[in-house]
Amino acid sequence: MTYEPVIGLEVHVQLKTQSKMFCSSKNAESQVPNVHICEVCTGQPGTLPVINREAVLKSVMVGLALNCEIAEYSKFDRKNYFYPDLPKGYQISQFDHPINGKGVMEVVIGGEVRKIGITRAHLEEDAGKLVHAKGFSLVDLNRAGTPLLEIVSEPDIRSSEEAKQYLQELQNIMRYLGVSDADMEKGHLRCDANISLRKKGETGFPPYKVEVKNMNSFRAVANAIEFEITRQSELLDEGKIPDKETRGWVDDKSITVSQRSKEESQDYRYFPEPDLPVMHFTKGWLEELRKQLPELPKVRKARFMDEYGLNEKESQTLVSYKELSVYFEQVMSELAEWTKSDQKRGSMVAGWILGPFLAAINEKNLLPEQSKVTAESFAELIKLIGEGKVSNLAAKDVFAKMFVTGEDPSNILDELGLHQVSDESVILEAVKKVIAANPKGVEDAKTKGEKSFGFLVGQTMKELKGKGNPQKINELLKKELKNSNE
Ligand SMILES: [Zn+2]
Repeated sequence: MTYEPVIGLEVHVQLKTQSKMFCSSKNAESQVPNVHICEVCTGQPGTLPVINREAVLKSVMVGLALNCEIAEYSKFDRKNYFYPDLPKGYQISQFDHPINGKGVMEVVIGGEVRKIGITRAHLEEDAGKLVHAKGFSLVDLNRAGTPLLEIVSEPDIRSSEEAKQYLQELQNIMRYLGVSDADMEKGHLRCDANISLRKKGETGFPPYKVEVKNMNSFRAVANAIEFEITRQSELLDEGKIPDKETRGWVDDKSITVSQRSKEESQDYRYFPEPDLPVMHFTKGWLEELRKQLPELPKVRKARFMDEYGLNEKESQTLVSYKELSVYFEQVMSELAEWTKSDQKRGSMVAGWILGPFLAAINEKNLLPEQSKVTAESFAELIKLIGEGKVSNLAAKDVFAKMFVTGEDPSNILDELGLHQVSDESVILEAVKKVIAANPKGVEDAKTKGEKSFGFLVGQTMKELKGKGNPQKINELLKKELKNSNE
């Protein structure tokens, strides 16, 4: 039987704010446990929470970026459950009036645009952490009460690849908005997946749902989904309906294991948080905020294509890495100071940044701005190539040295003696020499064409010690061969 996966994702994004969600303790990580805590986030009796304006603002920014309907009124609720890392015995979350309602996000898969619905995105506080030792456990409350935005998708995702793309795009949007570092490995972005299967062609929802937790990378999410698709299809083939349950992903074994039966919302006895006021978002305030939103990846992609003449793939790859797209623009603006930057330059710069530069920073695990190659030097290198002062090939050596030392490209060019010979008289002399020394080659070039002509080009390049401008060599060699015909 062939089945179609029905997947919805719940993503928790840790918001980057000065202080925690309901108190003035610092929202920061620390190696030392229990340093960023106070009476409120440790749940002392008699303390009262206060809403963090910055966290609310950033949540609404995400809602606007995800095309969500922003609630006019929104409130907080208590979600009651017991766990040692939750000092109050309840978590302040949002139940029936989340800040952000229905929205939609576009994901590009294999060049095709897929729309994934957003059910809601609500604000809540995080719990602390348990540190398990031999025979006992310790509680670290540095994380307790930090703001989390939970973004719930509609069950619109149909493959592990779509899930991965959705998460990457979501991460990218968070980074463009500057609301979170959204680093999955550091837990800034956590993902739970709801997975079930239906027969191909069916449109209704399956009578069960399996929730998978504990995935710490995009790869883990994709693998866990693949594992569940196989496990659930085997059960369905045997005529069984998979249990409605929560399963955990075990990364080193690449399997999911049953953790517990899934809670229903009534298990949490939600009720309105009596200590916090209802929030009111006016139309005017929302419009102001919308105007202040930073440029988002989709818009930047279109602008890069339009402004710098990049093709779709170049632009998409650049904008999917925010810092790289920023670096690209810095190089382009430096370049514009020297030359009238035409469209061809845009593709050339993109090629260098997505090629040698990206490979080099990835190898050293650096962010673009951490590399020693400044945008100014990069632009200078591109200019030298454009002016024919260095060949593309030699420029790679120059770049490699720039990356290590941070030196100026023209200095490196002098040091390494890699200046390209574009002087016509020098090239012509070499061409004449080669023609005189290779009568057979010349004969072949005239009768056999392309391949034999290439041999003469190679000989001339050798004569110029590899530094000749290839275009000029081609040009002059053709001219000389034609002359010798007459
Ligand atoms: Zn606190």
